[in-house]
Amino acid sequence: MAVEYLKNFYVTQGIISPIGGDDYYQEVPAAYMSKLSRRGEIKDSENVLAFIKGSEKPDEIIVISAHLDHVGMNKDGEVFNGADDDGSGTVAVLEIAEAFKKAVDEGNGPKRSILFLHVTGEEKGLLGSRYYTENPIFPIANTIVNLNIDMIGRIDKRHKGNPKYIYLIGSDKLSTELHEISEQMNTKYTSLELDYKYNDENDPNRFYYRSDHYNFAKLNVPIIFYFNGTHVDYHKETDTPDKINYEQLETRTRLVFHTAWELANRENRIVADKLEKVEKTE
Ligand SMILES: [Zn+2]
Repeated sequence: MAVEYLKNFYVTQGIISPIGGDDYYQEVPAAYMSKLSRRGEIKDSENVLAFIKGSEKPDEIIVISAHLDHVGMNKDGEVFNGADDDGSGTVAVLEIAEAFKKAVDEGNGPKRSILFLHVTGEEKGLLGSRYYTENPIFPIANTIVNLNIDMIGRIDKRHKGNPKYIYLIGSDKLSTELHEISEQMNTKYTSLELDYKYNDENDPNRFYYRSDHYNFAKLNVPIIFYFNGTHVDYHKETDTPDKINYEQLETRTRLVFHTAWELANRENRIVADKLEKVEKTE
């Protein structure tokens, strides 16, 4: 089961749970999800959480998230692998957690705290992330940013032959500083083409509203959504691990890590300076 795998990873790495003791699961009740979903009966499920406590400003929290669920099986019983959606994001969060833990072990841990959040029920309507933001382990007011990774292992049609890219969505919506830091870290460390096509408010895909970060954004927490765009295997049985571009997955993961590292260690907490605009448009 996916959640046990995640928990065992964190236990093995010596990364603690923010809930306490051996409990890495935030239960998301069936009744909560069934009420919100249009897709019928849903069983009890859980988010998986792990935590690295900051050394100087432990109450200020950076949330790094990916969803752990996928679309399950089709009517013929074939399992949908979801290697890109969102196996790629899940692996990225684990790698980032490992890197932060290594820094802690070397006596160089982050000043602010990092919450690694694997959410359930994304495909059923962003339910696990919504549950977390309505029942947060750490106050939303102290949550300074959410970096959400949902599909970063593939190359879409638009970038065929030019795979060194990532779509960034939402980085400039609430915080000018967040957007600038993201750009600076990319220039310094990863040199990806940062494609803002889907960040356009008039883009008909409306991806900004379609993954877990949105539950944070609607509460005025600045976010960045990392995304490779859609492809022919999106939500199909054929979204398999052999089609992942591991080199780009790694580079994109490093971009998220460096951005998180800077946000965790810079002198001042980033400011959400663009809240007024959001309130007007909602
Ligand atoms: Zn997804």
